[in-house]
Amino acid sequence: MLSIITYPNPVLDQVAQEVTFPLNEATETLIRDMWATVKSQGVGLAAPQVGVSKQICIINLASSEQGAQAKDIVMINPQIIFYSQMEYQMTEGCLSFPGEYYKIWRPANITVEYYDEKGKKRTLKAKDWLARVVQHEVDHLNGNLFINLGGEKVDEKELEENSVVD
Ligand SMILES: [Zn+2]
Repeated sequence: MLSIITYPNPVLDQVAQEVTFPLNEATETLIRDMWATVKSQGVGLAAPQVGVSKQICIINLASSEQGAQAKDIVMINPQIIFYSQMEYQMTEGCLSFPGEYYKIWRPANITVEYYDEKGKKRTLKAKDWLARVVQHEVDHLNGNLFINLGGEKVDEKELEENSVVD
């Protein structure tokens, strides 16, 4: 397992580097280690959160309600190409900000383009929970942290069950 980098480590503020294909061994190992790390702690993880400034994030769908039939996702060089006008508010946490939670408004639906581990370009339309996790992770790759989104701070004791930590 990798240790999680917490704020204010400067790697969290940087725009991560694009990844080239085929993946080298170090990157393949990184992705494997990221999985081992996220499975025990959260729903999503971006490479900068383990101190590596590369455009890679993973989403652990098994941890979500819609998990059973879905597959875990590795996104390399992701770009969100569509945001819905409709937004909704949900409480988010972040492994890089232990114990901090904010109610954040985000678009309800998005479309993201990314590359899989084989270098194949893929498109994913996501809504609700998954759309939120993708936005949070892609934000990490661009150095955008959830504390800067104007959300209302939530006390840890008042957390709703459906909050997202990633
Ligand atoms: Zn985060």
